[in-house]
Formats: sequence, structure tokens, C-alpha cells
Amino acid sequence: MSIQGSCHCGGTVFEVEGTPDSALACNCSICQRKGSLLWFVPRDKFTLRTPDERLATYTFNKHVIRHRFCPTCGIHPFGEGVDPQGNAVVAVNIRCLEGFDIDAVPVHHYNGRDI
Ligand SMILES: [Zn+2]
Repeated sequence: MSIQGSCHCGGTVFEVEGTPDSALACNCSICQRKGSLLWFVPRDKFTLRTPDERLATYTFNKHVIRHRFCPTCGIHPFGEGVDPQGNAVVAVNIRCLEGFDIDAVPVHHYNGRDI
């Protein structure tokens, strides 16, 4: 089963295999401002249905995470990075997904501010 996601204007559309079983609320400088709830999936479970060049990219600090966002509506649906083992992962903002009960997903608070 896969789940669909998009930005607000529909300029960014994507699909993820599976459904979120938990999400991370991170308090680092960017996540706190965005209010994202993050679900980490292997890169190969994520399919971007929009040409990659239509999305904008923001990086900061060590520039290891590519924060992707829609330049039209400003929504940040996902970020790209690598896990500690070096595998490509996507951090999907589950607030941008459709067709499931977001309130049923357990949220874990992550102290990203102190790392
Ligand atoms: Zn958009």
C-alpha cells in the first residue's frame, strides 16, 4: 500500500510506500519553525511524481540535509539525507500526506536542538 502526498498548490506531488507508524517532532531550529511531523523512510520507498527541478532546496549548518520545498506555495513536504549507516533516507512531513488519520500516529519528541 502506498500513500499520496503533496504541497498545498499541487506543484509538488509524491508517493510513499507504506503508512506512517510513528512520527518525530523535532525541536531543532528549522523543524520547530516548520512544525513538521517527520516520518523517515528509505529513499527507494519514496517516489517524486513531479520533476525534481520544480522543487527548491534549502540547506544550512553542515548542509547534509536537503530541505525540499515548493517555490510556489512555500510548503516543505520532505527532506533528503542519509542515516548513520549511510543509507539514503527521506524525512516525509506527514502533515502533507492524505488519506489516513494523522491524529492516530504516535508522535515522539526529539531533542534535535542539542545535537
Ligand atoms: Zn506548492
